[in-house]
Amino acid sequence: MPPCIRFTPVARTPTALTATIRRVPGVYLSYPFCAQKCTYCNFASGVFPREMEARYLDALRREIRAHSWEWRPETVYLGGGTPGSLDGDALASLLDLLPGRPWIEATLEAAPGTIAPEKARAWARSGINRVSLGVQSFVEREIRRTGRKHTAQDVAAEIRVLRDAGITNYNIDLIAGLSGQTAESWSESLAWIERLAPPHVSIYMLEVDEDSRLGKELLLGGVRYGAKDVPGDDEIAGFYESAVERLAACGILRYEISNFARPGAESRHNLKYWRLEPYVGFGADAHSFDGRVRRQNPESVEDYLSQTAPAAAVECREDERFFVGLRLMAGIRPAPEDWRRFDEPIRRFVDAGLLASEDGTLRLTGRGVLLSNEVFEEFLTE
Ligand code: SF4
Repeated sequence: MPPCIRFTPVARTPTALTATIRRVPGVYLSYPFCAQKCTYCNFASGVFPREMEARYLDALRREIRAHSWEWRPETVYLGGGTPGSLDGDALASLLDLLPGRPWIEATLEAAPGTIAPEKARAWARSGINRVSLGVQSFVEREIRRTGRKHTAQDVAAEIRVLRDAGITNYNIDLIAGLSGQTAESWSESLAWIERLAPPHVSIYMLEVDEDSRLGKELLLGGVRYGAKDVPGDDEIAGFYESAVERLAACGILRYEISNFARPGAESRHNLKYWRLEPYVGFGADAHSFDGRVRRQNPESVEDYLSQTAPAAAVECREDERFFVGLRLMAGIRPAPEDWRRFDEPIRRFVDAGLLASEDGTLRLTGRGVLLSNEVFEEFLTE
């Protein structure tokens, strides 16, 4: 989860752009099948009939085979969905179609509570060298409310299983703002992070989407998913800030708004999104970017399988480089014309303490991170 970087849906144009992809240093494979639909999730993923999974794998293999590789990918990312539920042969049948092995980073998203030793060994044999665990919380009451089934002890045991299989690089996803979360329960999840000492942590501040089950309950009423117990925005921001501090104290540093790593363990694949480096995506809702144009496959599994909806494409906007790059704590070095173009909002945000400008570099401050949507919006509308 929040598995991949999701861009604002792009406008559709009739142009076919596949042929323009020349440099492909990253590959994303989408596997949108899950064992359950988590209450907060608004992705085009879910629980589908078994026969659909087989048809989807066939379509995915066809799409990969049809791609003309002009570059050896250096990173691979399998997200969705829960690609960790693929059996070893199916996973190998996808990865065997990709050039560039051994990849410097090949990540698989997996649900905790499902990782057996043989499975982890099969992942490693297929070339997977990094696993992203959708933990979300270490507190059982909160985990159950999301619809997930693991325990904190499962996570600890499965990290040992991964290590035994030779996969020492892994990420733990946490969500600040789950239903029923309190300062104490959030602190308990952070204490587990301190104990497990992972190389990488992603922390997402929950924004309830009206398309999720939680969002619908918030709008229409009901008690099933605990919508009324979702913490307020200020409380969630407080959880996030306490995480920034406690992770830094154990050497896990924020390098992007939602991502924290020990030096050298930053996600090589995800950095491509923020640095606007090229990647190609396969499968439902997968995005591609060739350095100039973004392309998005049909969002739903049904549309992807029926091939009735064409891939949507849109030119990369110059200002994207600006606000996507600002998500990185290292900031950006705007071109002279960008300094001129955004002179007014930059001054305003620097004066307000949301941006810091130093030696030609512009970056968000700690306070700016919390108000980043406001900052980005300003640059988008310029
Ligand atoms: S595992 Fe849950 S959060 Fe992740 S894609 Fe599936 S339904 Fe969404």
